[in-house]
Amino acid sequence: MPTESEIISRIRKRAAAPRDARVPIGDDAAVMEFAGADDLIACCDLMVEGVHFQTHWATPRLIGRKALAVTLSDVAAMGGSPRFAMISLALPAAKSSEFVNELFDGIFEMADAAGVFIIGGDTSSSPDSLFIDTIALGRCAKGRAITRAGALPGDRIFVTGSLGASRLGLMLLGQGFRLEDDSQNDKEAGRARRLALLKHLAPAPRLEFGRTIGEAGLANSMIDISDGLSTDLSHILEESRSGAIIHAAALPIDDSVIALAPDELKTDPLDLALHGGEEYELLFTAPPENRDRIIELSAATGLPVTEIGEIIIGEGLRIERNGALEPVKPRGYEHLI
Ligand SMILES: [Mg+2]
Repeated sequence: MPTESEIISRIRKRAAAPRDARVPIGDDAAVMEFAGADDLIACCDLMVEGVHFQTHWATPRLIGRKALAVTLSDVAAMGGSPRFAMISLALPAAKSSEFVNELFDGIFEMADAAGVFIIGGDTSSSPDSLFIDTIALGRCAKGRAITRAGALPGDRIFVTGSLGASRLGLMLLGQGFRLEDDSQNDKEAGRARRLALLKHLAPAPRLEFGRTIGEAGLANSMIDISDGLSTDLSHILEESRSGAIIHAAALPIDDSVIALAPDELKTDPLDLALHGGEEYELLFTAPPENRDRIIELSAATGLPVTEIGEIIIGEGLRIERNGALEPVKPRGYEHLI
C-alpha cells in the first residue's frame, strides 16, 4: 500500500498548476488568485472512524467539533482566515439521528466560535465506519499566504502552545481512560489526564494567531503540527531546502506530559513532544529581527509562543541536547492507506 506522502507526490507530478493557483498541491492548503484584494484558501480533511477516532472514546459532539477544527487549522497555517465550510458524511446504518444531531452540534459549535458558515455538503451511507469530510474555504491578502517553502537560513523556529499532550491523551484513551471518568481519588494526576484527553479530543486550532501573524507578515514559513514536530518541521525543511537545529531544553513540553509520561506510561516526555501528532499548534520560522513583534503578538492573542531553534544551510533536522548534536529522524504519524 502506498503511504500518504507517496500518493501526494504522485498526484503532485500529475496535476497541472495554472498560474492563478499560487500554492498548488503540497502545502497545508491550496491558495488561488482571484480578482480583488484577496486570495482564496481551500483545503479538506477526511476523518475515518477506526483510523482517526473511535466513537466509544468521545461524544459525537466532540467528534464533530474536532472534524471541523482540524480543517480550519490548515487555513490558519497559511496565515489566512477561514470563512466557509462544507461537511460530508458517510453514515453506517447503526448511527441514530440523535448521534447525527449531536455531531452537528459540535460542528456548529466550532463553526460559530470561528465565525465560519456551513454552506453545504453531502451525505451517503457507509457499510461499517463513519466518514466525515470537511472542506474549509478562507482568505488572505493577495500574495501573503505563508507556505512551507519560505524558511531561510538564519530564521528562528517558533511553536505556539505546548507539545506532547495530544499523543499522551491518545495513549490514555488506549488504556481505557475517558473524559467523563471521576478522578477524585488522585486529583493531581486526574487533572493532568483530563488536560491531555482534552488536548486530543477537543483541540483548539490557533485561528486568531494564524490570521494575525499572516496579516502582520512576520513569518517566512508555517505549518500546523498534525503529524508531529519532527515530521512537520521536516516538511518545512524539504520544501525550503534547508536544515534545522532545535534545542531540547527549549521545547515547551506540556505540563501533563511531564507529570504523567515518565511514571505512568514509562515514556520519555521529550519523545512525545518531538514526535506526538495531532497537536494543531502552529510551527513557523521568522527572521530574528521579528522576535519582539512575535512576542507582542503572543501577548495580544494570549497564546504562548516559544523559540525552539534555527534554520541553517544544509539539510536534515538535528537536536541539541546538553551541548551535543544528534540527528532527528522524522517519525511522527503517517497514515497508512
Ligand atoms: Mg496541516
